[in-house]
Amino acid sequence: MPEQSSLDNVSIVLVNTKAPANIGSVARCMMNTGLSRLILVRPPEDRQDDAMKLAAGAGKVLLEAKKFETLRDAVADHQLVIGTSRHLSRHRRNIHSPRDAAGWIIPLLGRNRIALVFGREVNGLEKEDLSLCHELIAIPSSEAFPSLNLSHAVMVIAYELFLAAHAGLPADERALARSDEIERFFGHLQTALRHITFLDDANAKHMMFSLRQLFGRARLEPRDVKILRGILSAVSGTPERKDG
Ligand code: SAH
Repeated sequence: MPEQSSLDNVSIVLVNTKAPANIGSVARCMMNTGLSRLILVRPPEDRQDDAMKLAAGAGKVLLEAKKFETLRDAVADHQLVIGTSRHLSRHRRNIHSPRDAAGWIIPLLGRNRIALVFGREVNGLEKEDLSLCHELIAIPSSEAFPSLNLSHAVMVIAYELFLAAHAGLPADERALARSDEIERFFGHLQTALRHITFLDDANAKHMMFSLRQLFGRARLEPRDVKILRGILSAVSGTPERKDG
């Protein structure tokens, strides 16, 4: 049975947040629900007092937050990257409610590090950020006004994780491939598919987006990635580069 401390393997990733006060509120929500790993991608540099004030007793989470320039680097050592968005795109089939997602996230935490990614206040996550996400969570909300405040969105999801962590769910023993490994596979896949002229300039973006979702659903393990890259090398003669 996963321990509550398995929540240490959850990272809350905030991309390009504008208001420091929101970052402080997120830190507070995290500490209320037993989360501690906060990652900030291109955070604001000013008004740190606002952040500290809203964090109240959770300043520790803020002070220990890690900072990155890109989302890709921020999630490189995570096995599962889950985006959050209110938009229910018809192109995405892997959209979950917070409750449903918590039910399969918690069992995986024994052997995997999971990133929950939140977008900026005004326009949310960009397409490029979303393409790095293997799954999506949408919080059900009123159609008349569906967009939650950033820290409220974090709280709803963190609360469901907190409850699920105490529900005695059986562990999921799979150890998944890391995001950086998966990204190298996608790079290889794109090169190979261009080589065999399956991809061209007109369809590459759209097709790669669909393929990313397809493989995202598959929960690839390191051995699976190795087999797939071996196949790519064999069909197209594109070598399996160690670095990319
Ligand atoms: N106007 C923006 C909303 C940004 S709110 C938009 O249309 O996308 C800031 C962040 O809070 C979002 O990027 C997302 O991470 C989270 N969020 C807000 N409402 C949400 C909802 N209903 N479901 C899931 N995430 C949500």
